[in-house]
Amino acid sequence: MLSFFLGILLAFETVKFNPISIGGVDYISYKDIADLLKCSSFVSDTTVELFSGTKKVRLSFEKKVAWLGNQSIPLENVYIDDNTLFLDGESWAYILSWFSETQIYYWDYQNKRYIISKYPPSVKSFKLDADSIVIEHNRDLSPVVFQSEDTIYVFIKSGFYSGLAGKKVYGEFVKAVRTRHTTEGVTFLITVNDGVKYIVSKGLMSIVLKFQREGPPGEVQVPEKVTTPEVPPIIEAPKKGYERNIKVVVIDPGHGGHDPGAVANGIREKDVVLQVSKLIKKKLERMGIKVVLTRSGDYFVSLGERARIAQKNKADLYVSIHCNYAPGSKARGVETFFLSEARTEWERSVAAFENSVVKYEVDKNTDKGDILSMIIGDMAQYEFLKESQDLAYFVQESLVNSISSLDRGVKQAGFYVLQGVYAPSVLVELGFLTNKDEAKKLKDTRYQEKLADAIVDAIIKFKVAYERS
Ligand SMILES: [Zn+2]
Repeated sequence: MLSFFLGILLAFETVKFNPISIGGVDYISYKDIADLLKCSSFVSDTTVELFSGTKKVRLSFEKKVAWLGNQSIPLENVYIDDNTLFLDGESWAYILSWFSETQIYYWDYQNKRYIISKYPPSVKSFKLDADSIVIEHNRDLSPVVFQSEDTIYVFIKSGFYSGLAGKKVYGEFVKAVRTRHTTEGVTFLITVNDGVKYIVSKGLMSIVLKFQREGPPGEVQVPEKVTTPEVPPIIEAPKKGYERNIKVVVIDPGHGGHDPGAVANGIREKDVVLQVSKLIKKKLERMGIKVVLTRSGDYFVSLGERARIAQKNKADLYVSIHCNYAPGSKARGVETFFLSEARTEWERSVAAFENSVVKYEVDKNTDKGDILSMIIGDMAQYEFLKESQDLAYFVQESLVNSISSLDRGVKQAGFYVLQGVYAPSVLVELGFLTNKDEAKKLKDTRYQEKLADAIVDAIIKFKVAYERS
């Protein structure tokens, strides 16, 4: 597994692009593609043709179809600007691979570039039928499936797929399918109609999702959406192999140095969050808990470094402190995030990849154990999902009660800063700097004390519940 992983890292080239991003889709113009291929093009009112060697691709603006020789593929994402045709990165990847024959192109959504590999894709097929999806893959891959609202995510670490998963006719369950690659693997985003659930069955080299309207949930439980904060969260029984003890808490004041974070009403996020974080540290230490700050002054710390600080100090809990920003609106209130199930595996793994590659460039004899620990850690984080959610409830509830601020609820999202942290972790937005009243409060030391107290209370409450379970 490890040597396979390293092999993949070294086996590709990349080409950077500046796509136009609209609604989560990256669009690239035919001109940029023609430049990449160094091929000629012919443009009429309704079509674009690209010629490379003896091959020709014809793209119809109107019919939203591409002809690759005799093969035709539907183009779901066509964008026309200034009489120039743009297609999504994944469609171009398919076309580029068809032109190339010996190399396979993947659109790296995270880094806005093409990954070009000479190896066959590790995800062999993606078949969508009226009520199921079947994905076939290499033996050493293990897809992770979960649902968040109307989207089902199938993340396959180290998986690469060269095909047109989204170019299908959809039945009564599935609305759309999108493919997203990062250097770390592929994610299929399957948007389903209201009330559609799935059942997963995994084979040695395949995974099957069967859709249905009602019935038992999928293999991975989806956290319930927050509607009634009064209902106390349930701390589940511990998973085997993890020590149920909170000895080290890492507090992460967001931003710093040349990154001020949000700036509004004459207040900088980086200052407020550092002050509150230092207060939390002082208060927790008084209770005999070891606290590590990811920064203790006004300097820049990269997101990867923050995660490494947590790892190095064996964090048992991780709380990232931020202030919100919504220019032009009166938005106010507190919200607490936990790293979403949906994006944990996928986005955080990108960070893990970037870290390992940097090391690889510096020193080819890098500690391979480190990379291995990242892979293992990746699985470990998955175990903390429920706990992160519980911690988020505690923090949110405690803050709302203590400062009587507007309760914006517990939310889930794929924050980079929580990636690579192998402990229950949350990100707190203390309030909006863009809101005049809230900004004034956030600057006030007494208010900051209250915020810190509330977060400390929540951590202690969580610690008690967690260690007892
Ligand atoms: Zn922030």
